[in-house]
Amino acid sequence: MAKVLTNMALGGFALVIILGLVVVTKTLLHTPPPFDDIAAVDIQLDEANLAANLSAAIRFKTISYQASTGKQNTEFSDFIAWVIATYPEVNQVLELELLNQSMLYKWQGLDTTLKPILLTGHYDVVPVIPGSEDKWQQPPFSGNIVDGVIWGRGALDDKSGVVGILQAVTYLLDQGFQPQRTIYLSFGHDEEIGGRNGAGAVTALLKQQGVQLAWSLDEGSFVFDGIFPGLETLLASINVAEKGSVTLDIVATAPGGHSSMPPRNNAVSDLAKAITKLQDNPVPGGLSGLSTQMFDNVSRYMPFTMRGLFANQWLFGPIIDQQLSASTTTNAMLRTTTAPTMLSGSVKTNVLPIEAIATVNFRIHPRDNMQSIENYVTQLVASDTISVRRRGGINASAVSDWQASGYAAIAQSMREVYGDIAVAPGLMIAGSDSKHYGQVADNAYRFNPFILTSQDLTGFHGTNEKISVQNFAQGVRGYIQVIRNGSRR
Ligand SMILES: [Zn+2]
Repeated sequence: MAKVLTNMALGGFALVIILGLVVVTKTLLHTPPPFDDIAAVDIQLDEANLAANLSAAIRFKTISYQASTGKQNTEFSDFIAWVIATYPEVNQVLELELLNQSMLYKWQGLDTTLKPILLTGHYDVVPVIPGSEDKWQQPPFSGNIVDGVIWGRGALDDKSGVVGILQAVTYLLDQGFQPQRTIYLSFGHDEEIGGRNGAGAVTALLKQQGVQLAWSLDEGSFVFDGIFPGLETLLASINVAEKGSVTLDIVATAPGGHSSMPPRNNAVSDLAKAITKLQDNPVPGGLSGLSTQMFDNVSRYMPFTMRGLFANQWLFGPIIDQQLSASTTTNAMLRTTTAPTMLSGSVKTNVLPIEAIATVNFRIHPRDNMQSIENYVTQLVASDTISVRRRGGINASAVSDWQASGYAAIAQSMREVYGDIAVAPGLMIAGSDSKHYGQVADNAYRFNPFILTSQDLTGFHGTNEKISVQNFAQGVRGYIQVIRNGSRR
């Protein structure tokens, strides 16, 4: 008997050793792909001129308001006139078509057998929240340049994209560059309110002309600096899809009556239970497909222990899942998120509600869709007194190919500008105009070639939006390389 036990202990011991060896070996093999010999580019730019142009662009109050009132149309037409006056070379060589207040340029390529590509951004911006103006270190529409930093609404989202593309094209035209592929540039005027009249109209026109793009590059993710925990190198996170959104009303009904003799449960308490149940049961998700690909790529650049975790997902999958789900940012990459946002109940303090409604917004992961989310919620909370109503929404976009030549061109361009950095496909949590452009593109990528630090995050739709002159210039180099590399593949 003792001998059997000893043998079992020895067997267990051997198993642990073997397991340990497998884990360590897999970790050691989990390294970044070899860096191909990519030559750094030397692009001389007049940085003061770049900065002055972005600064001027920021000064136009091209604000999109949620309500149709408040929009200052002349700011938009003045911006268009400014683009035409400031970029004469672009306007000489490229063909411009105005769709509502969006600008579509066509740069004819030499080889008409190749599918065209599209570089795009939007020049409308969100308003500055009234009362937050004095929290800005520089006025939000000043475009002030202080100590090498350009300040103002749109510095990151997304006038730097629009002006960056125009500067890149101007540089290339000065160099006598002619693209092989036809290149479209599109600058939307209503992205912040859904893009229907801008990107939507451009997409409809391209469709009507029978244009199918090889790929498009829109705003999206950035070159992350210190944003991804545990990652010591820069990460160009090229978004290959964007999440959808569906809003559901959870409706609780009850007989109502006077609040002086309440029943044990009423519409409000039933609704509260339903919301709690929703919160306690997140939509199933986890590492698969795109999410796996992203974390697999990124973790190769992480310290040994983190690499060990991701290299051995067969063993540590549940731990990784738990860790990533605990953080709001990474959780949003793994699953459809649940966010109760609005509540309503009775109209009077002493009247029991006959109806109580919770509005819940779900941001849809590409693996789910509006119907599957509605089914999931219904199955979870619906009862005799609780029903689920859909308000509206949009499915997630298709997932673009991260093995395709467009992705490779963008990745290569970033390495020519930033050196041996990590590049990984990502998922866009917010929306972009590419929900429209994606309809006429084989692949739609969403990425800005500028560096973004965690301090910059509060600038998006918030306060103190800014970009350094140096960073802006690097991004312009990024766009130049994207055009050079992308137009010849
Ligand atoms: Zn934007």
